[in-house]
Amino acid sequence: MINSKKGPVTVKSLFESEKIEGSCDPATVYRLLQKLEKKKIIRKIGLHDRSTHFILNESGQHRDYVVCHDCGDVETLEMICPVEELENKVSKSTGFQDVYHELQFYGICPVCAKDK
Ligand SMILES: [Zn+2]
Ligand SMILES: [Zn+2]
Repeated sequence: MINSKKGPVTVKSLFESEKIEGSCDPATVYRLLQKLEKKKIIRKIGLHDRSTHFILNESGQHRDYVVCHDCGDVETLEMICPVEELENKVSKSTGFQDVYHELQFYGICPVCAKDK
């Protein structure tokens, strides 16, 4: 359900999906999301509560994001990660295992930029 869409999803967009609409009430979905978050299956990203995005925690996979400062929209970056190499260096120089990172860039999305 959550990963059927590319990138992070908002709760709002979950409710608007045809599969969910009318078949369960928002409170149930929120409870489920909270449970999944507690179990670290999903987690929240984004700036504002009203546009909180959820993403799946996939082990061995990471994504970098760009977040709109205005509307809180989150996009997955479709480019080769610039700092993956650094992970090895960090790992070597600190002795840490399973080093990972996550980047969030901030800016104004094209939609918000148009409104200005
Ligand atoms: Zn925006
Ligand atoms: Zn990265």
